[in-house]
Amino acid sequence: MENRMAHEFDYDLISLGAGSGGLSVVERAASYGQRCAVIERGKIGGTCVNVGCVPKKIMWFGANLAEMIKDAEGYGYDLTCNGFDWPKLIDRREKYIDAINTWYHGYLKELGIDEIDGEARFVDANTVEVNGTHVSARDIVIATGTVPSLPDIPGIEHAITSDGFFALQKQPERVAIVGSGYIAVELAGVLNALGSKVSLFLRKEHVLGEFDSLMQTTLMERLGQSGIELRLRCQVMEIKRNKAGKLELQDTHGVGMDDVDQVIYAIGRHAELDTLKLENAGVAVTDSGFIESDLYQRTNQANIFALGDITGRAALTPVAIAAGRRLADRLYDAQSDRHLDYELIPTVVFSHPPIATIGATEEAARAEFGDRVRVYQTRFTAMFNSISGHDVPTAMKLVCLDEEEKIIGCHMIGPTVDEMLQGFAVAIRMGACKKDFDDTVAIHPTSAEELVTMR
Ligand code: FAD
Ligand code: NDP
Repeated sequence: MENRMAHEFDYDLISLGAGSGGLSVVERAASYGQRCAVIERGKIGGTCVNVGCVPKKIMWFGANLAEMIKDAEGYGYDLTCNGFDWPKLIDRREKYIDAINTWYHGYLKELGIDEIDGEARFVDANTVEVNGTHVSARDIVIATGTVPSLPDIPGIEHAITSDGFFALQKQPERVAIVGSGYIAVELAGVLNALGSKVSLFLRKEHVLGEFDSLMQTTLMERLGQSGIELRLRCQVMEIKRNKAGKLELQDTHGVGMDDVDQVIYAIGRHAELDTLKLENAGVAVTDSGFIESDLYQRTNQANIFALGDITGRAALTPVAIAAGRRLADRLYDAQSDRHLDYELIPTVVFSHPPIATIGATEEAARAEFGDRVRVYQTRFTAMFNSISGHDVPTAMKLVCLDEEEKIIGCHMIGPTVDEMLQGFAVAIRMGACKKDFDDTVAIHPTSAEELVTMR
């Protein structure tokens, strides 16, 4: 690929941010011979590795074990659990993350990609300043991600976010979680399973507002049954620390709490645009505060691209990675139309039990296609849970369109669905119809077989 005036600049490509998106674009660009650097103000690997997917999944595994210990009794085991050592799990989790960080440093070195520590801000469209030094590049990718949002209420300084959750050295006994999205339900499930007493504050009457109603209602029901207190249509008005060192809350219903160890906010994330000095490069932003970019990750400046969470689209690690790799393929390997298709992105919420979903919800499909939609659904207790007596529901729904019953949505909640969706997602992306599912011989006895035997 022609090097457009490359040597006018220090690098061919710089990524601002070394998270999922930034690392993937420089890695692929370097494989095409581009001279690359990443500028990172925090830890290599970004949110996913350090304060996101990785530590979250480790906590989720720990929480699953707590549930399995209870399940074991139904299988005839007489177990005594002598306690749960939070600091031990945190220590092992952080060592695992350190190993990923170390691996990345070595990998970048191997690829000849320079790492620059510090916070980048634009000087002009080809130059950024880091620690008082100017660094220039022909192409610049903005992959600076997002940070957790907090409301402006009295005492908010006493609250933490998911970042603070991952910094906890001691298990909180009594926790208030505010929010209804991915992080709120994931952390509520983890803490509850590990033995903390959890109250979940929902400003509306649902969790996971964008998800299919079967997922919402089944999870809500389960959260309540598992011992999590649900405070519906309720917001925290004020937080105070009392003399006993506990947090006191007042909510919009006038109900107080005075024994809280941690208040965790999980109400969404926003981009920190101010520090980037985008105006120096003329980069446009959207009304909702993300970087304006098209499906080819182009901003309004020809040599500046944006990818990952900073674009405000599908804030998921594999999305950031896929967008970064495709961008490098397009820019440096002449794959001129290569870009990420943002339709039909599968996703899993690591709640208890997990939710796995792809495509249109029943509600969205009916709003768009009316009577052309046909829905198949089932709800059951998996064999494992029937025996253990741990009554966790499994529910599945297929949303189909027209006579051919093309599958446009698939939604599942229940133990093991997190590992079930990936393969079905391939089939659905390839245009599978209900008949293709029906014609596929079931694997017995599994929960997954229900998806190919629905009537
Ligand atoms: P990030 O990974 O956030 O990386 C951006 C990097 O840019 C950061 O390291 C930041 O320090 C750096 N930076 C910011 N500004 C500057 C600057 N001016 N100069 C230099 N560096 C800068 N996704 C999943 O797919 N599965 C999951 O299970 C999952 N779990 C999650 C759990 C939690 C608690 C959270 C918060 C997120 C989770 N996500 C999950 C989402 C996933 O982490 C993000 O979608 C992903 O990390 C986005 O990658 P990114 O490269 O866009 O941004
Ligand atoms: P989400 O966008 O998932 O959910 C936040 C929700 O909180 C909103 O949708 C809203 O729901 C509610 N909310 C907003 N403001 C307030 C408020 N002031 N008070 C009370 N509730 C409020 O955000 P998260 O922070 O949970 O996660 C950010 C993103 O990170 C996710 O969207 C996801 O893309 C990614 N992520 C992915 C994970 C995975 O793949 N497993 C895990 C964790 C995060 P409503 O309007 O219904 O009240």
